[in-house]
Amino acid sequence: MEFFRKLKEKGVALVKADVRYEDESNQFCVMVRVCQIMLLVYLLLIELFTIFFWKGGNPFLVLPWIPIAIVGFVSTYHFRTRTVFHLLSCFVIAWIWLFIRYFGWDIGAQHFLYPLLVVSFFATYDNRRGKTIYTLVLLAFRLYLFLYVSEKPALYPLEHGTQSAFQILNMFMLFSVLFYVCWTFSNTNQEAEKKLAYYNKRLKHEAQTDQLTGLLNRRSMIEFLEKRTSGNSEEFLTIAIGDIDFFKRVNDTRGHNCGDEVLRRLAGLFMSYMDGKGMVCRWGGEEFCLAFLENGDVARNYVDDLRMQVQDMEITDPSTGDVFHVTMTFGVEEYDFSASMTELIRRADDKLYVGKDNGRNCTIY
Ligand code: GH3
Ligand code: MG
Ligand code: MG
Repeated sequence: MEFFRKLKEKGVALVKADVRYEDESNQFCVMVRVCQIMLLVYLLLIELFTIFFWKGGNPFLVLPWIPIAIVGFVSTYHFRTRTVFHLLSCFVIAWIWLFIRYFGWDIGAQHFLYPLLVVSFFATYDNRRGKTIYTLVLLAFRLYLFLYVSEKPALYPLEHGTQSAFQILNMFMLFSVLFYVCWTFSNTNQEAEKKLAYYNKRLKHEAQTDQLTGLLNRRSMIEFLEKRTSGNSEEFLTIAIGDIDFFKRVNDTRGHNCGDEVLRRLAGLFMSYMDGKGMVCRWGGEEFCLAFLENGDVARNYVDDLRMQVQDMEITDPSTGDVFHVTMTFGVEEYDFSASMTELIRRADDKLYVGKDNGRNCTIY
């Protein structure tokens, strides 16, 4: 058991071994290798069938193809995958032609062109022009087979049983390759899409939120206010801009770290307080903006309540363990359905400065 496990590990490592050239896709190279292995197994099966079951079959018909397939596999470790894939295509095309000439059209060898087509589209490094040309070449070859080769009598006509066996083997080979390639391809695509969706979500989140506090940022609030003030909404809207009093002192006396802690604690308080009442953002520096879908009187009461919760909040200095308090001043302005958003913000800001001039820790409405 141990022996087989190690053998399997070695085999997988061999197939997945890195590409020789850094600008090439490892996944495509692995796909070409696996296809080469499948081809080899397929040729060996035909060879075994010819030796043991096909009465009058010539074992030397397929034998020379086997070392060529081995060389094809080994060459993926030495040459560019694109080159190897083109050689593999030539190999398969030659094989199809000979197979039809040997045993006739009914064996279904012509269908092997389809996996080639699918694999070629997996070659992400190739451009669209290359892929189109490749498709046209395969189409031309398919037409040539149909018009000139299909009608020719088989060089080695098969009995019914042997013909069926070859046909079934070809079917299995065809489905296995297509299954493997499409499976890998769809998985890669799905994973890439999932990753993209995840990164988009993260990017959007990062663009909308403030890193330090986790609150929405000014840009999100402006978007929200723009929507509210530019549409025909008849809902109330009141905004409040709040600024921490003497915050510079906190930084100067307790350090920037402690200042950050204050911002985070206040953000936490605002977030839970505003739940269901409206929206809050970090407006910038030590300022916050709150938007209520309420009239000015209701909103002012909320803001005043919040202001008192701020002054009562115990904040612990992370470096000394001291407990201290901060206060905030707020300017509140109700949207009158005619002013612009800029005007609304300006008015709230003006009131905030009136509050600062009036001695701070107050709500101006
Ligand atoms: P006032 O009551 O007039 O608002 O006084 P103040 O000290 O709060 O106002 P001032 O504008 O003088 O200082 C604001 C301070 O806020 C200065 C700046 O260093 C600090 N600040 C801004 N953003 C941050 C931040 O993200 N973290 C920390 N720790 N401090 C910040
Ligand atoms: Mg300020
Ligand atoms: Mg301040």
